[in-house]
Amino acid sequence: MSRIFEITERVASYSAKADIDRINQAYVFAAHAHAGQLRSSGDPYIVHPLAVAGILASIGMDEASIIAAILHDTVEDTSVTLEEVASRFGDEVARLVDGVTKVGQIRFNSSEHKQAENFRKMLMATARDVRVLIIKLADRLHNMRTLGFLREDKRRRISEETLHIYSPLAHRLGMHWIKQEMEDLAFLHIDPEAYRAIASKMEDRLDELHRTREHLESLIQEALSRQGMKAKVQGRMKHLYSIYQKMQRKHVNFDEIYDLVAFRIIVDDIPSCYQALGLVHGLYRPVPGRFKDYIALPKPNGYQSLHTTVIGPENFRIEIQIRTQAMHSYAEEGVAAHWLYKSQDADARDRESFKWLKRLMDLIQESEDPSEFLENMRLDLFVQEVYVFSRDGDIFALPRGSRPLDFAYAVHTELGHHCIGVRINGEVADFQQRLRNGDQIEIMVSPEQTPSRQWLQYVKTPKARHAIRQWFRRQEREVSMRIGRKFLRDVLGRSDVPVSMCKALNCRSPEDLMEKLGRGDLPIHRLLEVVQRSEWKAFNIRGLEKTLMHAATCCHPIPGDPVLGQFRRGHGMILHHRKCPEIRKGREKDWLEVHWEGEKGKMFLTGIEVLTRNERGMLAKVTQCIAEQSSSIEDLKLHQRPGSTTELIFLVSVENRKHLADLLRSLRGVPGVVRVSRRNRVGLQGQTDEGGVSRAIGQTLRGIFSGRKVHVKEDS
Ligand code: MN
Repeated sequence: MSRIFEITERVASYSAKADIDRINQAYVFAAHAHAGQLRSSGDPYIVHPLAVAGILASIGMDEASIIAAILHDTVEDTSVTLEEVASRFGDEVARLVDGVTKVGQIRFNSSEHKQAENFRKMLMATARDVRVLIIKLADRLHNMRTLGFLREDKRRRISEETLHIYSPLAHRLGMHWIKQEMEDLAFLHIDPEAYRAIASKMEDRLDELHRTREHLESLIQEALSRQGMKAKVQGRMKHLYSIYQKMQRKHVNFDEIYDLVAFRIIVDDIPSCYQALGLVHGLYRPVPGRFKDYIALPKPNGYQSLHTTVIGPENFRIEIQIRTQAMHSYAEEGVAAHWLYKSQDADARDRESFKWLKRLMDLIQESEDPSEFLENMRLDLFVQEVYVFSRDGDIFALPRGSRPLDFAYAVHTELGHHCIGVRINGEVADFQQRLRNGDQIEIMVSPEQTPSRQWLQYVKTPKARHAIRQWFRRQEREVSMRIGRKFLRDVLGRSDVPVSMCKALNCRSPEDLMEKLGRGDLPIHRLLEVVQRSEWKAFNIRGLEKTLMHAATCCHPIPGDPVLGQFRRGHGMILHHRKCPEIRKGREKDWLEVHWEGEKGKMFLTGIEVLTRNERGMLAKVTQCIAEQSSSIEDLKLHQRPGSTTELIFLVSVENRKHLADLLRSLRGVPGVVRVSRRNRVGLQGQTDEGGVSRAIGQTLRGIFSGRKVHVKEDS
């Protein structure tokens, strides 16, 4: 079935609802897109997608699958885009085509046999929709059928991939005939000699098989028809590759394989199954211990049948399976039988035994999300992992619940450290988004970007968590060392430390001493004792070296203020205003006298309060005045006060005390302003170095995407 009218006729025969016109349109569209392309066989390319669609029609797949099969190579191999497919044939078809394309991009390296299971899992996860896998299996089956036209090394590679990945996948989806045909074709190309040897011996047995089959069929038919029942008996030889495997596994030759022949008896209903079993056991002697009732106790994947082995004519063992037609199509087509089943609603009542399938269908109808459907199908028993792609198409397995930073750190630690944004499937996403199977992830980096503590909330993997913590530990060490060195230089006038001093202060090395000093573990007065300097001038600072020193956010000191410094582990030195109540909390010796001078152009935050009369435009006048003084407002709050006045509290940025004094003076000159003063404790945070990490990220992203707004939410 590889001509378009054969396909459409077939689809119409099992699905009344199918839109045959749309299938024809897909054919015209694909034929046009592939025009001029040839297969290795010399056939026009369109022959292949049609053959794939034909395979799917033969197992009763739905219209969307048929159309997607016809289009399955257009996006990959022609100038057609996914958007075009979506606009012409709808989102469902486009999703299927996209899935098949993505699955097709995954390359299995045959040297990684141990990874085969992972690859299969990943294919399933990537597919999201089980129809994608079915289309892919049909695609691979047709490619296997036409493999003879390729070079030998390619034939071998594709055959191995088929054996390791696709035939087990077909097995897992319960699509037995596809599995067997794939295996025999792969076997033919991998070991042609062994294949032909077994094939010719099988040939010799065919007559015998047919005789037995006819005999059995007439006997069973006769017996059942007496009760008004029908039966169909199918005889089949074991498939070549499974004989080969058994010969290898058991180290036996062909003549020692006794279960070459198997029969299948297909009857109308479940009672007939047991009746047929009784008949068979009356005709031939059953082999003890070989009877299995998978009707009463279906296999976990939903398979149902009665199995028995009997001693047949000429003393050959014959395996017999007895089942209803519904059980049979499920056993053969596996999960694909679902579509066939769906399209024959009238017979649905006869198939009550398909409880598993029914449950499955309910789930499909309930779930919008095909990946959820896959999970519920127990196809992916690997729910603990998600499989995602890098921009280059490499696969990464991450624990379920992982987010973009986990991916970045999985690729490379540096990629994580400098990660500034992420695109998932081409769309800008935030760091909190959970990764889904098949997502393609692109990490954007900036050399200036460094980890933030908030990132720890956005990672799931120990690797990412560890890398971030490690970065901070290293950073803290560096900060401490630099401060320690600065101290030494101030106190000793040099930064090299004599060994005797290290010993006296219980430090292993000069570096150790500097680190302890800078971290505050070694009090500065201990150092002064050792160098026998009782008095020590203030510690001099110009500006503030970011990451080394910070102005405290409780009292907002600015250069020129009397300040005291205190160490905070991992943060360097925090400068507090001398009048800050925090100072009374610490021990006296922990506080360092600091002389802090500003630096031109560097701004620091501080608080001011402005009492104004309640007049129209008052706030505008005040803020304009602040702007005119080259200061900026980082935060503000308002309080209504008695006597028709309002108290405005601002967090503003200024260079130093002089700048602040100028600002206060100008504000006093604004008409309507009653009183102006500095206010050290404002209870406003503004955007400091410490907080606002996500805001900073948001801003950077906004910058990068030239005005495209990116919202970075807080974790909830
Ligand atoms: Mn193809």
